[in-house]
Amino acid sequence: MTPRVHRSSRVAGALVGSAVGDALGAPFEFGPPGRFSARFPTPARGAHTEMCGGGTLGWEPGEFTDDTQLALLVATSLGERGRLDEADLFDRFLRWAEADPPDIGTQTRAVLGSGLPWDTAADEHFRRTGRAAGNGSLMRTTPAAIRFAREGREATTDAARRISALTHGDPAAGEGCAVFHELVRVALDGGDPLAAVPAALEAVADEHRERYAAVLAPDWTPQPGMPNGAVWPTLGQAVWALRRGTSFAEVLRLVVDLGGDTDTVAAVAGGLAGAVYGMGGIPMRWSSVVHGRIPGHGEAVWRLADLQQLAAALDGGAQQSYDAGVIPRIGPQEVLPGIWAGNLDGARYSEQDFAVISLCRLGEPFPHRTHRMAYLSDDDHNADLDAVLAEVLDDMAALRAEGHRLLVHCHGGASRTGLVLRAWLVRERGMTAQEATAYVAERWPHLGLWNDSFTAALARLERARRSSSPGSW
Ligand code: MG
Ligand code: MG
Repeated sequence: MTPRVHRSSRVAGALVGSAVGDALGAPFEFGPPGRFSARFPTPARGAHTEMCGGGTLGWEPGEFTDDTQLALLVATSLGERGRLDEADLFDRFLRWAEADPPDIGTQTRAVLGSGLPWDTAADEHFRRTGRAAGNGSLMRTTPAAIRFAREGREATTDAARRISALTHGDPAAGEGCAVFHELVRVALDGGDPLAAVPAALEAVADEHRERYAAVLAPDWTPQPGMPNGAVWPTLGQAVWALRRGTSFAEVLRLVVDLGGDTDTVAAVAGGLAGAVYGMGGIPMRWSSVVHGRIPGHGEAVWRLADLQQLAAALDGGAQQSYDAGVIPRIGPQEVLPGIWAGNLDGARYSEQDFAVISLCRLGEPFPHRTHRMAYLSDDDHNADLDAVLAEVLDDMAALRAEGHRLLVHCHGGASRTGLVLRAWLVRERGMTAQEATAYVAERWPHLGLWNDSFTAALARLERARRSSSPGSW
């Protein structure tokens, strides 16, 4: 079930996938089961996607909620302190809670509002109430699962329990986080997290194992509409969807359709599925719009590129921000009817009513309202080039059908841009790869043909089209 995906793509996929799940599920939180599929019976690839915003709290399309806000505090504390510093992390949580975030779990609010210090607040709450196994610590733990993955099972499950215990005094919540950490660790290593479930269960404390074994069993099926605010059903539903779905998008559709605490279950499922399928598996119409602020922690807006960079840093990579530099502008120029091409700055400074399809890293975000960012590199390391290309073409077709002028670009406007323009002609106009290449070369002198893996993908696309439409040959 695990496609061939580079670790860096899995790491980014886990963090971005969790934020995407949170934002995708947020408008459906506390709603009945099936509402997502009722509203979106087919993929919504036009200007208005499944990232619809709204809900009782009035989220912006693509805006993430407390799940990701807290996850980012975990991430930034780990990054800035260089280790797990529970007092520092608790302090960040406190500042967040004091800023009156739009949503906050009841248990998290009670603990953070108690006025007690980090090492007693959650414990005291649990002893007093006896109820502290909500899913609020599981929903925020993806960054820690990335950060400690390389240190092995014991270290990552230990960190999971300690971070959970800051707000969730019931050890059951920490055990769920520990299982999640272990499954993410296996997935980031390229293994199958579902095959790792039995081993992960062995690491669960004896008194909690049976309950987790029940919801993680291969034949366990959640009842739509079942309460899922506790840690067990949340983890169980996420793993169930991962087991049943065959793509990132399907996994998320399955969990959001279960209803209830949809943003949180989707955040957990999205973290796992993102680690399995990688960035290339996350629909770009979702990842491109994910964003949000962290109440109490400045006005900075976190976006896709920030999440990708943070994920790389958590995995031990360099944390410098990407600077695209200044390059002479090329384009935009209309190459195919309704489809324009350019390089990075040609696109950046283009008219804002273009629907922009970006095939490279950007540095500073663009101001365009409709903007999709594909995960594509100009080398032969794209794990599933055919799927990414199909995704780009499908979104382009939907946006064209709505009448948008499209602007396709990459850093130089040559190789990746050329691939997409040619692929469009092969798929939409029935040209051979050779005809498409000649057609684009005549109208777009910047076309670059050096990437052999792109040439091969174009040939596969041509073969696929010919076999799917035998009448035309
Ligand atoms: Mg939330
Ligand atoms: Mg929630």
